[in-house]
Amino acid sequence: MKQEQINWFFDLDKTLYPSNNGLYQEGNRRINEFFKTNLNKTLKEVNKLRLYFMHKYGTSLLGSIKECNFDAKEFLDYVHIFPKEPFLKKEPALRYFLNTLPGKKYIFSNAPKSYINEILYHLGIDGIFSQIYGIESFKYIGKPNKSSYAQILRWTNSLPSKSVLIDDMKINCLSAEKFGLNSIWIDENLTYNSYYEDILFTTITSFLENQL
Ligand SMILES: [Mg+2]
Repeated sequence: MKQEQINWFFDLDKTLYPSNNGLYQEGNRRINEFFKTNLNKTLKEVNKLRLYFMHKYGTSLLGSIKECNFDAKEFLDYVHIFPKEPFLKKEPALRYFLNTLPGKKYIFSNAPKSYINEILYHLGIDGIFSQIYGIESFKYIGKPNKSSYAQILRWTNSLPSKSVLIDDMKINCLSAEKFGLNSIWIDENLTYNSYYEDILFTTITSFLENQL
């Protein structure tokens, strides 16, 4: 009997590369800088505001568009345009594992598409994914909002039960499960949670190795 195909939806940041390379921290520093400069706030005030936005809207970006009148493109460009070479190197093992994983692979990220393409190139895993869905695809309303999951399933003609989200953010995994998708949580700290007993991995390669 032919095995039904699985569609894999990969997050990008801190899922396809580890957090200790400094890239994510640089992006985060830039978000804080943009908030501080444009709202004339201290770092402490910015952190508080970002937490509030995360809680209310799921992302700092969406909160800042709704409540601070930020221009989405200006904000995203400031946060994502900088040299990536110092942070990343080619990952042939990751490329091998991704290529060997059966089923269609997509990128489902809250980052802009140009940044995603750059990261994939520097990791040496470009050309593997059938389609790349960045934050513009979702009109800036990305994970963990329900609409983004519904849209990506529709665009890729995927059944939720045959779809798997792989993400480092627990809230994104929980939303996926809530909307009927399966999820794999990549958590470097291996935060124990019985719900995730069999689907919790510290790195993307440890998960992919497990599939072969
Ligand atoms: Mg991530």
